[in-house]
Amino acid sequence: MPKLCKAAIQLREQIDDDYPDRDRKSDGWVADARHVAKGTSDHIPDARGIVRALDIDANLNAHPEETYALVEKIRKCAKRGDKRIKYIIYDGKIMSSILGWKRRKYKGANPHRSHFHISFTTLGDNDGKWFDLEGDRNERLKEDGGKLGQDLHRNSPSDVPSGRLGCRCNCKCGSSISLA
Ligand SMILES: [Zn+2]
Repeated sequence: MPKLCKAAIQLREQIDDDYPDRDRKSDGWVADARHVAKGTSDHIPDARGIVRALDIDANLNAHPEETYALVEKIRKCAKRGDKRIKYIIYDGKIMSSILGWKRRKYKGANPHRSHFHISFTTLGDNDGKWFDLEGDRNERLKEDGGKLGQDLHRNSPSDVPSGRLGCRCNCKCGSSISLA
């Protein structure tokens, strides 16, 4: 029985969470007979039955530009170093680690307009960890010192600047900072 690699299952779940009412007509993963006959596609199960490709319908049932934005998020996630993503094809362009994930012209027969295609590396076979699509994981680590999941008390009254505060840098400079 063919099975989809864990990374692809995770990515599809995240997209489903963000676009619950998206169109799924052009979704797909395991190759049809035509693909198998051609012989080279990550949609074809390997010897262990693992499929390393995912097609996501381009109609997210939201504003049309969100498809581009979503593909951009996946591209940037890969560019930032998520090595589970092998390449992406959408709207006549292919994006891969070649040329640093720049969009390049895709010369295949199907320009991929009704759906976008994501191929995964073998690193994604059993690695279904969350994809950092928003690119804010490092930001958050900086902000709250790595205590992910613990809310910063941004809105607590003591954090709201008011009037003049003494220098809080412990440098004993005795200066005052006006926050008015
Ligand atoms: Zn595909």
